Amino acid sequence: MTKVIIIGAGVAGLATAIRLSAKGYNVELYEKNEGPGGKLRQKTIANYRFDLGPSLFTRPDLVEELIKLAGKNPADYFPYQRLSTLCHYFYPNGKVFHAPATVSAFASALEKAVNEPSENTLAFFDYALQINKVAGSVFLNQSLHKLSTYLKKDTLKSMLQLHKIDAFRTMDKANKSFFVTPEAVQLFNRYATYNGSNPYQTPGTLNLISTLEMQDGAYFPKHGMYQITQTLFELGKELGVVYHFNTGVKKINETNNKVTGITLESEEAVPAEIVVSNMDAFFSYKHLLNNTSKAQKIDKLERSGSALIFYWGMNAVFKELDVHNIFFSANYEKEFDHMFKLGTMSDDPTVYIHISSKINKEDAPLGCENWFVMVNAPANPAYFTTETVARIKQQIVAKLSQMLGTDVASFIECEEVLTPGLIESRTMSYKGALYGTASNHMFSAFFRPPNFDNKIQNLYFCGGSVHPGGGIPLCLLSAKITDDLIS
Ligand code: FAD
Repeated sequence: MTKVIIIGAGVAGLATAIRLSAKGYNVELYEKNEGPGGKLRQKTIANYRFDLGPSLFTRPDLVEELIKLAGKNPADYFPYQRLSTLCHYFYPNGKVFHAPATVSAFASALEKAVNEPSENTLAFFDYALQINKVAGSVFLNQSLHKLSTYLKKDTLKSMLQLHKIDAFRTMDKANKSFFVTPEAVQLFNRYATYNGSNPYQTPGTLNLISTLEMQDGAYFPKHGMYQITQTLFELGKELGVVYHFNTGVKKINETNNKVTGITLESEEAVPAEIVVSNMDAFFSYKHLLNNTSKAQKIDKLERSGSALIFYWGMNAVFKELDVHNIFFSANYEKEFDHMFKLGTMSDDPTVYIHISSKINKEDAPLGCENWFVMVNAPANPAYFTTETVARIKQQIVAKLSQMLGTDVASFIECEEVLTPGLIESRTMSYKGALYGTASNHMFSAFFRPPNFDNKIQNLYFCGGSVHPGGGIPLCLLSAKITDDLIS
C-alpha cells in the first residue's frame, strides 16, 4: 500500500485522509496540537460550550459526500438542521431585519424592514446565481494550475462565459447598481467577509457567495460546529487512518526532487511516498521546506482578514437575538480601509454575535447564553496589544449596550479572548489570517498557491491557504482537488 503522510488535522487534512484511505492508501496524519480540528475546535469555559472558530455551516453535502465515501449513512452519522432565519441584522439607524432563509421571503422582508424594493433583491439573486453557475465550476472544483483543466470541454464552455461573472467592477459598485438603500448594499457587501476580503476592492464575482446561504441554505450541526471535526475524525479512524497528536512536523524530506517522507520535531524521520501538507502554505515553504524564495513569493500576496473574538458566558437570555446576529457600523467603508490599508481597526467595528445555545440548550446553563462575539480584524498580530484589545472590547460593549438598550457588560459571567496572534500560534496560520490569502483582485484565484508543488514530485497541499481558498466548504473542496491530483 502506498504510504501517505498528512501534516495537520484541520478540516482539509482530515477530509484528505478520509478520501485517500477510502481509496486504499495507507494514511498517517501528524498534528502538533493535542486534538483534531485546527481552527474548528471547541472549548468549555465555566459551564458554557463554545465553538472556537467557524460558526456558519454551509454546503453540508460536502461532509455527507465524505460519509458516503466511508460507506456510512449520513442521516445516522451526522445530524444537522437547516436554519429558517439566516441572521438578525441591526443597523445604527435603529432598523432591524430578520433575514428569512428563502429568497422570496427574504426579498419581501427586506422591503418591509428597510424599504428596498423586493424586485431588486430578486434581480440581484438571479445575477448571483448566474455567476455561481459560470465561476463555481471553473474556480472551485478543480486545480487552476494544471493545463489539463483548461482542455476540458466543461471548462472551455465556462471560460467562454467568463464575461458574465462581473469581474471588472467591485462588489460594492455591483451592489450599488442593484440596490437603492444603503442598508441593502451594506448587507450584501458583507458577504465579502465570508472569505476575508474587502467589498470595496474584491470583484463583483464574489457576489456568488450569497447564493451559498440563500440558495443552498445555512445549517447547524446538532451538537455544534465541532461535530464536523468529530465526524471527520471518527470517519478517518474507522477507515484506518493512524493519527499522531502532539506530534509536530519539522521538515519535509526529498531526494532528487521527489518526496521521501518527513522529520518530526523529535528528530525522528518517517518515510512516505506521498506527503500532503495542511499547514499554511507560507509556513510549509518557510519552515518545512526551507524554501525562502517560495515563501517570499507567497508573502507578497495580500492576507485575508483575521478576527478578534470574545467568548462571553452571559447570565441572561436575549429574546431579540438569534443564532447569527450582526450589528452594523455606521461607516462600513472606513472599517475596511482601516483593516486592509492601515492594518488597524476603526473605532466603530461591525459586531457579529453567534449564540449556539439558541439551538443547543446544553451549551449554556438555564437562563443563560454563550455569546461568540467577533469583529473583523486585520491580519496584523502586532496591532493587538493588551491595551488595544481592551479598547476594542469597550467599543463593542458600548455599541451593543446602545443598540440593545441594556448594559451588556453587567451580564458577562466569564470571558476568554482569541486574537489574530493566538490564531497564528495555535494553528500556524500566517498572520492569523482566517482564509489564507484575500480575494481582493480579479486574478487572486490564479495567484493563490496551488495544491501541489511543481518541482517536488508527490508533494501536495490542502486547506484554506491554497486553492480554492478558506472557509469549511472550500477547504473540503481543496481536499477533493488534492485527492483528484494524487489519484
Ligand atoms: P487549519 O484549521 O488551519 O488547521 C491546520 C492544522 O495544521 C492545525 O491543527 C495545526 O496545528 C496543524 N499544523 C500546522 N503546522 C503543523 C506542523 N508543522 N506539524 C503538525 N501539525 C501542524 N469558515 C466557515 O466556513 N464558516 C465560518 O463561519 C468561519 N468562521 C471562522 C471564524 C474564525 C474565528 C476562524 C478562525 C475561522 C473561521 N472560518 C470559517 C474559516 C475556517 O475555520 C477555516 O477556513 C478552516 O477551518 C481551515 O481549515 P484548514 O484545513 O485550512 O486547517
